[in-house]
Amino acid sequence: MAKRLEAGTATLGVMGGGQLGRMFVHAAQALGYRTVVLDPDPESPAGLVAHEHIQADYLDEAGLARLAAASDAISTEFENVPAEALRRLAQQRFVAPAGDCVAICQDRADEKAHFQRSGVACAPYAVIRSEADLAAVPAALLPGILKTARMGYDGKGQVRVKTAQELAEAFHALKGVPCVLEQMLPLQLELSCLVVRGDDGQVVHFPVQQNLHRDGILAVTQVPAPAVSEALQRQAVASASRIAAEMGYVGVLCVEFFLLQDGSLVVNEMAPRPHNSGHYTMNACDVSQFEMQARAMAGLPLRAPRLHSPTVMLNLLGDLWFDAAGTERTPPWGEVLALPGTHLHLYGKQSARPGRKMGHLNITGATAEAAEASARAAARLLGLPDSW
Ligand code: ATP
Ligand code: MG
Repeated sequence: MAKRLEAGTATLGVMGGGQLGRMFVHAAQALGYRTVVLDPDPESPAGLVAHEHIQADYLDEAGLARLAAASDAISTEFENVPAEALRRLAQQRFVAPAGDCVAICQDRADEKAHFQRSGVACAPYAVIRSEADLAAVPAALLPGILKTARMGYDGKGQVRVKTAQELAEAFHALKGVPCVLEQMLPLQLELSCLVVRGDDGQVVHFPVQQNLHRDGILAVTQVPAPAVSEALQRQAVASASRIAAEMGYVGVLCVEFFLLQDGSLVVNEMAPRPHNSGHYTMNACDVSQFEMQARAMAGLPLRAPRLHSPTVMLNLLGDLWFDAAGTERTPPWGEVLALPGTHLHLYGKQSARPGRKMGHLNITGATAEAAEASARAAARLLGLPDSW
């Protein structure tokens, strides 16, 4: 049970030191909390800004003991944190989300079983752990996408397969690790929904966001979702809330959905933490996803966030730090920031690499049209596609 940690009187700990941890630390610090981050990387984005950085492996006994001793409540900023580490920490401190919830999100087979338990439709699928499973795959699941059950992100660990033979080759190329084969669905668009559940069972939600991926990585988020009806948005919120409640989840949970061409909604996957598609909340809502995570951990009141500005979020990948000839450069921030409504967030990463998430740009406007116009101008300055 969470004990109420009054703002400014306690220390919030976080497993992982990436950009999500960094933005969480900033929000927790704004509420007056002391912060401590555990991450093995000496230059991790969150470790650089926390009051204390415990530089240790995620399963290191001494490191975990130090984190528990220093923190009043503990969270995670990445979903592949060893669930065992969270369970150990929970013996001493309030941990949200719980290791058992994170474990469900870490395994696509468990995750899909959980969606079904929650009564939320997902893509037709089969779990493939053996040659026998492979032989038993129904033909109706092809063409499909073979996804490793564990450790996939940004489209990694996924192979598109058309025939049973391609499926067998892909499964073997993945060295026979447990996989999930999903039927390839005809997508109209993708959306996601952030819900926040308190330890007392109260659930609040952020406005639904519409997402565009490029090369398997989130590229653009628009809020309000321009092509998602209010009824579908309500359905997404209700589904995400059930998914959270069904596992007794505490904290911020992001649930990703597909809107199919026939107008139906199916759940794709979930992340047990604030999410890239929720970065828009930092400038567009009266409370951010990161502050909500701190509130849920500290047992502070949760109230429904309000969107005050239509927003477009552009992800800033390391590719922008190189010109066409491959020479490193600094993107033209001065010109970008001269545009109305631009809010730049850079994560303090020491080196840029293509595909690496370096930062994001939130572009707000008094109207969706104003935000869109400014976002398109920013995209052109940065050399990104200016349509989405
Ligand atoms: P991340 O965790 O970074 O969101 P991921 O690697 O876990 O990504 P998914 O979200 O499972 O991957 O899939 C990546 C993208 O591939 C989806 O956003 C969607 O565009 C496409 N995709 C995934 N599954 C399907 C499907 N069953 N049918 C059609 N498209 C799909
Ligand atoms: Mg995804």
